[in-house]
Amino acid sequence: MVNFEKEIQYIKGVGPNRAMLLNKLGINTLKDLITYYPRGYEDRGKALKIAELINGEDSLIEAIVVSKINENKVRKNMTIYKLIVRDDTGTCVMTWFNQSYLKNKFIMGKKYKFFGKVSKRYGTTEMNSPVFEEAEVSKNTGKIVPIYPTTYNLSQNMIRQIVENGLKIVNEDEAKLQETIPEYILKEYNLLDINNAINQIHFPKDFTSFENARKRLVFEELLTMQLALLQLKTRYAKQDGIQFDKNIKMSDVIDNLPFKLTKAQLNVLEEIDSDMESNKAMNRLLQGDVGSGKTIVSIIAAYKAVKCGYQVAIMAPTAILASQHLESFEGILGKYGIRCELLIGSVSKKKKEELLERLKNGEIDILIGTHALLEENVIFKNLGFVVTDEQHRFGVRQRGVIADKGNNPDVLVMTATPIPRTLALILYGDLDISIIDELPPNRKKIETYAVRKSMEERVNNFIRKQVNEGRQVYIVCPLVEETEEIDAKAVIELTANYKTKVFPEYRVEYMHGKLRPKEKEEIMNTFKNGDIDILISTTVIEVGVNVPNASIMVIENAERFGLAALHQLRGRVGRGEYQSYCILKYNGNTDVVRQRMKIMQDTNDGFLIAEKDLELRGSGEFFGTKQHGLPEFKIANLFEDMPMLKKVQSLAIKIADEDSKLELEKNSRLKELIKDKFSNRIEI
Ligand code: ADP
Ligand code: MG
Repeated sequence: MVNFEKEIQYIKGVGPNRAMLLNKLGINTLKDLITYYPRGYEDRGKALKIAELINGEDSLIEAIVVSKINENKVRKNMTIYKLIVRDDTGTCVMTWFNQSYLKNKFIMGKKYKFFGKVSKRYGTTEMNSPVFEEAEVSKNTGKIVPIYPTTYNLSQNMIRQIVENGLKIVNEDEAKLQETIPEYILKEYNLLDINNAINQIHFPKDFTSFENARKRLVFEELLTMQLALLQLKTRYAKQDGIQFDKNIKMSDVIDNLPFKLTKAQLNVLEEIDSDMESNKAMNRLLQGDVGSGKTIVSIIAAYKAVKCGYQVAIMAPTAILASQHLESFEGILGKYGIRCELLIGSVSKKKKEELLERLKNGEIDILIGTHALLEENVIFKNLGFVVTDEQHRFGVRQRGVIADKGNNPDVLVMTATPIPRTLALILYGDLDISIIDELPPNRKKIETYAVRKSMEERVNNFIRKQVNEGRQVYIVCPLVEETEEIDAKAVIELTANYKTKVFPEYRVEYMHGKLRPKEKEEIMNTFKNGDIDILISTTVIEVGVNVPNASIMVIENAERFGLAALHQLRGRVGRGEYQSYCILKYNGNTDVVRQRMKIMQDTNDGFLIAEKDLELRGSGEFFGTKQHGLPEFKIANLFEDMPMLKKVQSLAIKIADEDSKLELEKNSRLKELIKDKFSNRIEI
């Protein structure tokens, strides 16, 4: 039997240091390793002749080394290494930077394989930083080679070798991987078996094998999700929920608001109200563009729950947001004698104990907080209504954990990353959907400009003008890597530059994900109070923060963000009375980049942007689903795999109709599959 939970550290080629790096990539066990899929592949299959090489293409050659390596120190920290190689059609120059280990690597007269990007200039052919190995070795060349998402200090060669070692453990074991999809489905949809699929996704024999492997794995991923959602939905439908009292009127609050609700807000409240008054538990997704006023909707619903004698939990993804919610809830509901409290990670132990005690005794009506609410010792006396804000930060699982703290409470999930309704119906199959499709009146359109680097000075002048008028500015750093450390470093560097060179006359501060929650909160509060002019930050400010005096959002390297993320970021400004601006600084001049910038300039409609984003999605660009707010998939891509998703959805419905509890023998594997992925949520 293979031990899939084997810790990564004990796999050949790993050890404690690399284990730490792998952990950062979310790889903790053998199972994680073999399901860590490549983000792309390089076809290093067929060697070309030097004379056949084409400028700009990644290519493989086999050639003999005909020179000593030449070392040229061009400046401090920059040494260039050059090597001349030859085949029977011509010569080619290999170039590397700062790779001193290469000095004694090559033997004159020996044949090697080189793979790299070709550059042809002034009659010479070069390859920059090629991968190489001896001609008779075929580890990293001579085939289709997987490219993994990786992190600093963990090279492609290393990670490739580690995956290979992991697969070897599985392949050499008699039991191998157990099939997860029932035979009858594999047959009907012509799917590869699991062992072939896993091997071929990492080291495909050819591109057809890759396609087949991918198809199988995507199918499994989507089917698991669809079945799980259907299970949840049937489970909810059967459940009796709380029937909130008809005599408690939402209008008591609505009539006393400082503003008039929009028609869309009123419609949504009506839907929520009727859910609350019915004896079924509510499970509703509230979609609405940034700034469309979702919070107030949840406040009014919470009022009803509290006045009916229940407690309410509000869960937000960050401490900043949770604090902000506390303010909003108290601002509106304080005068009705409703007691709100905040529970975030930075609350002191003593305060927390006291708070939890009061919660248990029912002396707190509304508890607002972060993930901290999920902890086991958070016990409500009588939880009747749960709101999770910015849903995409929380998985189905977490939603469940909080709901389980009550006795079938009504659940409202709010998200500001709208997705097209058809897609929402498929992806949130377990929820009913409400949409706020209208902004409060008198909102000024956020003027958006996409600019290139050459416009930088003008942008800076514009910022000066606005700050001199008393406004505040956000500058968002590009996403450098998936790791917060590197992002943090980038923020600090950028800040140093802005602070000393560009805007020495202003108060410039920075914020990033590595800071402690308390520090972040402090900086955010200082900014809110107007004591910081320019706040430079990673996307930690992405969600929900409200500073009405901030009027400019500058996004560096905007081409690296998904459109939905850009739209979210843009939504941080335009929250007050001032005309606001979003400046997208971008590099790159591909059609897709230009189109995406144009969409951002042309529209402020989050739903439209979401649709375009899906349409323009392409592999190789920075369109991670993480930023998109869609559920995270390991391999499926919702745009490319839409046809498959539809097929899988029909299959899932058919299965659920025939065997809703997955009790038939032929479906036993499916039961295991969803149990494995959604273990603490789905009981069948
Ligand atoms: P989001 O939907 O992005 O969470 P918020 O709920 O934070 O938006 O609302 C943004 C701002 O709009 C808040 O300051 C809120 O008080 C205000 N607001 C909400 N609804 C209305 C309305 N109908 N008229 C005027 N202002 C409103
Ligand atoms: Mg919000």
